Amino acid sequence: MLELRPNCELCDRDLPPDSTEARICSYECTFCAACVDDVLGNVCPNCGGGFERRPIRPARAWRQDTGLVGDPAGTKRRHTSYTRAEIEAFVRALRDVPPDGR
Ligand SMILES: [Zn+2]
Ligand SMILES: [Zn+2]
Repeated sequence: MLELRPNCELCDRDLPPDSTEARICSYECTFCAACVDDVLGNVCPNCGGGFERRPIRPARAWRQDTGLVGDPAGTKRRHTSYTRAEIEAFVRALRDVPPDGR
C-alpha cells in the first residue's frame, strides 16, 4: 500500500493526503510540485527517477476497510539526506534525460 507521507522532503511543507501538490517517485519519495518543477527538474534526488502526481486516497470507506478511515496517512516526516549542492549536481546530470530513458 502506498505510504502517504506528510511532508515535502526538501522544503518540508505539509502535504496532507488530499493535497493536489504532492508528487511521488516509484519509491514513494515525496516532494511538493514547486520543488519538483523549480528545483528538482523532475529528478528524484534519492533515486534519479521521475515523479507523478500522488493519487488521493478517499477520506471515506467507499469499500469496506478502505479510505483514510481504514488506512490512515503516514505521520513520519522525512528529509532527503543530500545537500543542496549534491542535489543540484545530480539534477544537472539527469534532468535532460526523460524518466523513461534513465
Ligand atoms: Zn517542497
Ligand atoms: Zn525516489
